[in-house]
Amino acid sequence: MSTRADVIIIGGGPSGVAAAVELRRQGVARVVLLEREPHLGGATRHCSHSPFGMREFGRVYLGAAYGRRLAREAEAAGVELRLGHSVTQIGADGEIAVTSAHGIEMLSARRVLIATGAREMPRSARLISGDRPLGVVTTGTLQSYVAFHGLMPFQRPLIVGSELVSLSAVFTCLTHGARPVAMIESAPAPLARAPFSWFPALVGVPFHRGAEIVDIRGVRRVEEVSFRRADSGVETVACDGVLLTGRFVPESALCRQSEVGVDAGSGGPAIDQDGRCANPLFFASGNVLRAVETGGWAFREGRAVGRTIARDLARDTPARAAVPVGFDPPVKLAVPSLLRRPLDGPPAFPDFQLRFTRHATGRLTLELDGRAVWEKRGDWRPERRILVPIPSAAFDAEQIHFRFREGE
Ligand SMILES: Cc1cc2nc3c(=O)[nH]c(=O)nc-3n(C[C@H](O)[C@H](O)[C@H](O)COP(=O)(O)OP(=O)(O)OC[C@H]3O[C@@H](n4cnc5c(N)ncnc54)[C@H](O)[C@@H]3O)c2cc1C
Repeated sequence: MSTRADVIIIGGGPSGVAAAVELRRQGVARVVLLEREPHLGGATRHCSHSPFGMREFGRVYLGAAYGRRLAREAEAAGVELRLGHSVTQIGADGEIAVTSAHGIEMLSARRVLIATGAREMPRSARLISGDRPLGVVTTGTLQSYVAFHGLMPFQRPLIVGSELVSLSAVFTCLTHGARPVAMIESAPAPLARAPFSWFPALVGVPFHRGAEIVDIRGVRRVEEVSFRRADSGVETVACDGVLLTGRFVPESALCRQSEVGVDAGSGGPAIDQDGRCANPLFFASGNVLRAVETGGWAFREGRAVGRTIARDLARDTPARAAVPVGFDPPVKLAVPSLLRRPLDGPPAFPDFQLRFTRHATGRLTLELDGRAVWEKRGDWRPERRILVPIPSAAFDAEQIHFRFREGE
């Protein structure tokens, strides 16, 4: 079977749904949304906590209820939903291979939006040594066990990480009968901001900064874990699980295997200020761009990119050449990482989003053709969002670069 749509959206999380609804609102006739899970909502579905939906819907939802609200919005807008459909390949001409219970299909579209989200880094990618017993999971897996199967995989886990999602992990444990034995973070300070970072201490979970796992031991399930503390001493704790939280990476395997490719900094597809990739048939929005933001942020990005895709379809003129955005380490990423001279309308991304790989103090400068047009001195923390407004002069520049001078 072959289908030709105006727009195909891959991923039914907040970002993909927001884009789909906006495209229909803008009068785009055939919008097909492909989601591999049986329901819409993406990563929010298994979150048994709030807050979701405040900015986009003006009320606070728990994660699962927020997913249901997204489904209602998509249905009311006339989006063609294909749930249980997994995209396995994307071609340079907008042709897409999809597998489902009905077999393999090839679909095609005038434009394709990639909104496949992000996932936490699993044990294998973190290179954690030791035995391979049961009980080592990520927060997403834990929350899926709890939300969809009513199962808690351990009673006394060790939690690794200190991002916002790590606090969500502590909360899930405490509200479902498990008591974390400790929380460890390899960075010298918690990654979540205060007052969120005070949460483990408030609920009596010991927190170790500058600490890393050196060994996991256990025959059938986890029995104990050794970690190296900041003072180099090795401590062993008895526990029955390890909860690996955060360190999100974009779900960008489809891009990696296709000519869309991925940006070396963000690990997601490179986009311009309208969410358009180097191949102008493709767009991207949400957490696949740069792990990881909140649900509301992903939703707003999807809506804004939906608007620019509708404009692009109506105009249907070739995209202009893109100029790459460069940066010095320890800047980790810049999104958008391309700029194109605009044709009309406001950009979907009015700001550059930057992140640092590590804690650094110094002067961050935006240079256009070697001339500084913006600068700020700061105490920059890893994985915190930094926004720099995109100046209109940037669209005429041939070289766009973020320079960092440590200690200045
Ligand atoms: C444990 C946890 C707790 C969180 N708590 C909060 C919170 O309290 N408040 C908040 O605002 N945010 C929270 N977030 C963040 C929020 O869930 C995300 O920011 C948001 O879901 C990102 O939306 P997205 O559309 O970019 O991606 P996702 O929600 O990840 O959606 C991507 C979708 O794409 C689908 N997909 C991927 N690949 C394919 C493919 N090949 N074919 C078809 N479909 C595919 C996936 O199945 C998924 O449904 C939390 C996240 C996690 C993991």
